[in-house]
Amino acid sequence: MSIATTLLGETSSKRPQLAHLSAQLEALRIQGTYFKLRVLDDAQAPVCHYDGREVINLASNNYLGLCDHPKLREAATAAIEKYGVGSGAVRTIAGTMRIHMELEEKIAHFKGVEACVVFQSGFTANAGTVSSILGKEDFILSDELNHASIIDGARLSRAKIKVFRHKDVEHAEELLKEIQNEPGHKLVITDGVFSMDGDIGPVGSLAYLCEKYGAIMMVDDAHASGVLGRNGRGSVDHFGCTQRVDVQVGTLSKAIGALGGYVCGSRDLIDYLYHRARPFLFSTSHPPSVAASCIAAFDILENEPDRIERLWSNTRYFQEQLTHAGFDIGGRTTPKSETPITPIIIGDGRKTMEFSRAIFEQGVMATGIAFPTVPEGKARVRCIMTSEHTQSQIDKALEVLTGTAKRMELLS
Ligand SMILES: *Cc1c(COP(=O)(O)O)cnc(C)c1O
Repeated sequence: MSIATTLLGETSSKRPQLAHLSAQLEALRIQGTYFKLRVLDDAQAPVCHYDGREVINLASNNYLGLCDHPKLREAATAAIEKYGVGSGAVRTIAGTMRIHMELEEKIAHFKGVEACVVFQSGFTANAGTVSSILGKEDFILSDELNHASIIDGARLSRAKIKVFRHKDVEHAEELLKEIQNEPGHKLVITDGVFSMDGDIGPVGSLAYLCEKYGAIMMVDDAHASGVLGRNGRGSVDHFGCTQRVDVQVGTLSKAIGALGGYVCGSRDLIDYLYHRARPFLFSTSHPPSVAASCIAAFDILENEPDRIERLWSNTRYFQEQLTHAGFDIGGRTTPKSETPITPIIIGDGRKTMEFSRAIFEQGVMATGIAFPTVPEGKARVRCIMTSEHTQSQIDKALEVLTGTAKRMELLS
């Protein structure tokens, strides 16, 4: 018997220890929401190949086409030539490279704040920040549709969690009133743009509430970075409240095209996170090539705002055409999109997955998203427009979406 067979034998699915996982997978198959990962064969782009099939890609977060931008490639390659491929340690031990500091300064300057710290991802930026700036005696007020990384950070902090109804500022105020005489710190947190529906958080009104009640204001701008605000500075800039938001989180993994997350705020906030945020302390920093790509991306945001204009004109066109064709793209039983995130609401999980598979077979890639990522009965195929889609690609995608939806009787 070869070594390979022996190893396979030992981890075979017949071992009883993990049988409960196999049973749950079987349940997903029966519900019709089991999925296989689709594998990208080439670079992330408006037209690319998944599982060997050429598709118009409506599924990525590559809003500005930077994943594959020549200037980011050049910057990454030059950094590899100069500094190698790895940083060799966590930031606090020996893994802070000059280029990491340059990136943090670049972002702080771009955002108009005192300081910035870069994390390995947006997920770790949220989870590491929320969990380290609050403790057991404190309170977190969180929008019910906030991102999973905020929820995890809130749980890790062991603070008391109060969830307000989606974008409901009055409800948030009621909750703040209930705890106003409690001694703990209060943190109000919202996504700048909600990732499943594409609607914009009430950042301005919540910032006002925070001032009234002496609460800390935090915004997660993962889907707003590079999309909203002047040159893509995000939702906080869009609402003109940079001075009134204490903690701004962003990602480098979506519009910025590479990988990472960051927190912007006061010098003391950032210094504190250097000392206390666990992903910063216990997980190795970015390869220098990633930091270099991100620096090049911020240069592009500063110097090529036409990408953001194209993103928005493509979005307007795509959404108008879908609405005209009779699709529910939010605003009926789900929040209405105000950004390039365009959900096609189907409702039933199985039908949603069938629709996603059918359009894929005709050359359009848009992912089906069902419970538990979105509420039960609100399954959708989520499309995200980018600045780099051409008119003819968008028209071709619309033709496939509409034809398939008609055949499956999904249009009203
Ligand atoms: C994607 C996302 C994150 C996580 O960012 P990564 O850089 O991909 O880890 C955090 N918050 C929101 C709202 C997101 O959509």
